[in-house]
Amino acid sequence: MSKRYSDIDFKKTLGSIPKDVVEQLQEKEAIQNQHDFVCLCEGLQEGVCYLCGEKIEHIDEKSPCMHWFLASSIKKKTLMRYLSRPLSFFRVQTYLRWVANSDKPFININDVGADVLDNKLHESTIRYKNLEWSFSLGNTDFEGHYGSKVGNCPHYHIQIVRDGYTVVKFNDTHIAFEPIDFLYMEMIRQNAVEVDPSYEAGLESLNSPTIQEAIMDNISVVNDVTKAQFWTRTLIDPSTIPENFVDEIRELKMIHRDLPMFKLIEVLNELKGYNIQYAVVNVPANSPDKIHRK
Ligand SMILES: [Zn+2]
Ligand SMILES: [Zn+2]
Repeated sequence: MSKRYSDIDFKKTLGSIPKDVVEQLQEKEAIQNQHDFVCLCEGLQEGVCYLCGEKIEHIDEKSPCMHWFLASSIKKKTLMRYLSRPLSFFRVQTYLRWVANSDKPFININDVGADVLDNKLHESTIRYKNLEWSFSLGNTDFEGHYGSKVGNCPHYHIQIVRDGYTVVKFNDTHIAFEPIDFLYMEMIRQNAVEVDPSYEAGLESLNSPTIQEAIMDNISVVNDVTKAQFWTRTLIDPSTIPENFVDEIRELKMIHRDLPMFKLIEVLNELKGYNIQYAVVNVPANSPDKIHRK
């Protein structure tokens, strides 16, 4: 099951698309993303879901929607039924990352990749206000737990914490993937696409100065996790942030994956002659801690 799409050479396939077409598509997507992210931010401020147009607290079993992840009025039974159907790992991740970024960019997501735990393909914790979603995807999840009654098909696990209380435990549910997930997974496995989770969701929109003003306070905060899982926080003075900062940092991050944010800023200051002001502090105790599945 997990070997689905593996007979496609994605590098070759994607490489065969003319460059100008790719650029056009990317530009279109960036504009769409920016528009969607603004809608999501504006909607959340009004307590409205930008996907279905309903209030966040509105739960209609006939039309399930990802805003159910945010609704505090949702009954556990309803939520469990929602999670018992296939639900795209990438769509849910992107949605929740956007939600987290709508609050305070960068600080609410904690990722640890497969390089930290050999048996894990993915682990992350996303936090928004009083809510915290942790994802766990191990090799045996992706292959399906062999011989077991539940979870024998490819799935991932989620833990949902609200107000410090665990509403859904990792073992409560085995969420089946949607076909799009297998496609993405295979593209990532083949290194045909670049995925940098800490920088994807909603960040395109940060290039827009009005959004930057709207969502950045006097200071921007960026968390870095090293392989040893020590955290540093880089505080950036937004008045010293150049126009193309997000793009340039993203490019640097692709080259220097292991460098923490403040090092990237040093490189950028040196390379481009910028004068981005920053400070580095240790992690406060209440930062979003990584939750490991037991
Ligand atoms: Zn909705
Ligand atoms: Zn599992």
